[in-house]
Amino acid sequence: MTNVQSSNSGYPRIGGKREWKRALESFWNGSISEDELLKTTEALRLDNLQKQKEFGIDLIPVGDFSLYDHVLDTSIMFGVVPKRFAYSGGQVPLETYFAIARGTKDAVASEMTKWFNTNYHYIVPELEGVTPKLVENRPLAFYKEAKEKLGIDGKPVLLGPVTYCKLAKSFGDENFPVLLKQFTPLYIEVLKELADAGAEWVQIDEPIFTSKLSEKDFQHVQQAYAEIHEAVPQVKIILQTYFEKVANYEAVAALPVQGLGLDFVHGDSLGLLRKYGFPKDKVLAAGVIDGRNVWRADLDGKLTLLEEIQTYVEKDRLIVQPSSSLLHVPVSTQLEEKLDPIIQEGLAFADEKLAEIVLLSKGVNDGTETIAVELKESRNALSRLNNSKYRQNVEVKETIGKLTEQDVNRSLPFAERIKEQQRRFNLPLLPTTTIGSLPQTPEVRQTRSKWRKGEITDQAYEQFIKNQIDKWIEIQEDIGIDVLVHGEFERTDMVEYFGEKFEGFAVSQFGWVQSYGSRCVKPPLILGDVAFSEPITVKESVYAQSLTTKSVKGMLTGPVTILNWSFVRDDIPRYDVLNQIAFALRLEIEALEKNGIRMIQVDEPALREGLPLDLEKRESYLEAAVHAFKLATSSVENATQIHTHMCYSEFSGIIKSISALDADVISIETSRSHGEIIAAFENNTYDKEIGLGVYDIHSPRVPSKDEMKQNINRALKTINPNQFWINPDCGLKTRKEEETIDALKIMVEAAKEVRKDQ
Ligand code: GLN
Ligand code: ZN
Repeated sequence: MTNVQSSNSGYPRIGGKREWKRALESFWNGSISEDELLKTTEALRLDNLQKQKEFGIDLIPVGDFSLYDHVLDTSIMFGVVPKRFAYSGGQVPLETYFAIARGTKDAVASEMTKWFNTNYHYIVPELEGVTPKLVENRPLAFYKEAKEKLGIDGKPVLLGPVTYCKLAKSFGDENFPVLLKQFTPLYIEVLKELADAGAEWVQIDEPIFTSKLSEKDFQHVQQAYAEIHEAVPQVKIILQTYFEKVANYEAVAALPVQGLGLDFVHGDSLGLLRKYGFPKDKVLAAGVIDGRNVWRADLDGKLTLLEEIQTYVEKDRLIVQPSSSLLHVPVSTQLEEKLDPIIQEGLAFADEKLAEIVLLSKGVNDGTETIAVELKESRNALSRLNNSKYRQNVEVKETIGKLTEQDVNRSLPFAERIKEQQRRFNLPLLPTTTIGSLPQTPEVRQTRSKWRKGEITDQAYEQFIKNQIDKWIEIQEDIGIDVLVHGEFERTDMVEYFGEKFEGFAVSQFGWVQSYGSRCVKPPLILGDVAFSEPITVKESVYAQSLTTKSVKGMLTGPVTILNWSFVRDDIPRYDVLNQIAFALRLEIEALEKNGIRMIQVDEPALREGLPLDLEKRESYLEAAVHAFKLATSSVENATQIHTHMCYSEFSGIIKSISALDADVISIETSRSHGEIIAAFENNTYDKEIGLGVYDIHSPRVPSKDEMKQNINRALKTINPNQFWINPDCGLKTRKEEETIDALKIMVEAAKEVRKDQ
């Protein structure tokens, strides 16, 4: 090749209007056959490929499509099926594939977990006791399909052997070399068949190279890639990394492959080039367009970047592409009908990003004058957004600029203010509470959707919500819970709810991205200066409090979680946006307090997942998170109690920061791994109040009283009973009413019995 080529490294599976989700769910509930499912999804897949071809992408990925998850696809390609699914070899049937992902009544599903620092979840491979074997060359099938049906000579995409083995479940570090040795020949088989079928370039995803591998591990990596190279020298491999800069850059760049893909958006890959250069014999796949965010790119800036990159790599060895698979962004802004055009034109979803990539390639190849018109249009669209009213909230910027350290601290330290709180609330030992949401029955969801469509009046909807609150305050009082909640019936989603009401946000119609399986999320867009305009949650909280003499907790989503679960504007530093959110929440909290709400919970379930991949960036992230949380929560009276909730059980390394949030009470999800958490809190002498979830709300099973007592007693071995709260481990939104009532009754009885023993 003599020119730069345009490339894509993965395309969203779900379809512009989530056709994929609908097909899958119809199949699961039996309303369409397997045949229909396969036909529908094939049409979608071919459409996606055709679209990329029409955009003019040179290297079109094939095999990135999945019916659930690409890590699971890799597992079944090698016959990696856990024993409990009764698999007897050969191509894994679709039924088994979905069983691994979703479980059956006899066999629990494989675990799922977050894909690096994204909100995409993959199915964790279980390699114990299985002998991997190539049972289905999936990339080959997709390669042939694209060639035969569309005349597209695609670029097969594979999840690489190092990343795959590293992500597998419960392998000790000592197992890694063994696993890698097992899988290397299987990858060779796959690649041989691809070469025989005519594939020229193959993309092997190794995002694990963004974290530091030990020297020993890396020797095995070198060996594996050397074997691959020796066995199939005719295949040109692009080793694809993303989400951060490569950690062992010099070593990775020396691996015997023909190309290396680097993320120039989320890590300082340019810094690596400046420091170490780029190997003369390799192709650089430069991820310059943000594959994780939704804003139109500053194309002038990108052209400058590409120019600098060309001082390290000749044009004929350069590929222009997104920073990662476009799996993490929605399909097309063209579907949006309700956004202000200024916003809509400031966005670039997957399709618009492909257009940007093709345009940049053309600019590099033929000179920027050949794309002058498009560049100007793009520039204008961006400046319209930048100069719009959304980004000109001077007042907010000034107020936040003036805040001092004193403004982010409670006036008394915890040890002193807790005494005032105890006097005010006068709670029993081991107080009981819940995490916030109560069951959202089909009736609740239908009523909300009718109201959104304008089929019922605001008044009727408000009355409906009040009735739900009435009913559940009574239920909670009857059960004997000590601190009540209003139930969050008015909320669909804990981030979107605030996004719709703060200034600076917009909510798209079709901005969906896959989260896990068929489940998609629609992150709000933070496009402007975030500001509080009027109270959001006061009405429901005050109403609930008016029905009871017990305390009702106000219920908010924290600044870090709102940030991490939104698409955030990229024209100002991310932590500035974080502080704007925090300040808006501070005003909401003050409004709650002014209206008599004296316990306020600020949820931060996404705090941990936002931890940067690059270890060096972690401290500043945690500092920013702590600052924002305190900014939001510190202006209340000493006797007002701030709660927080987090739903994950891995606290190692962040306990100090959790403690620094200075929340009076924290509730955490632990019912699945009590031991670890307690140890973590113990060693760091956590001094504030804690509720460790005493039962798992993710399962419909109602646990027995003895089980709950056991959980409580185990916690009390290390935590002072004066510090301890009793609660379920997360919100109850997805549970049925009956099972919720049963479980809460048992929880309160268990608490009463344990109290007696103290
Ligand atoms: N208050 C929220 C709820 O109960 C918390 C949700 C969460 O932790 N993800 O639903
Ligand atoms: Zn939770």
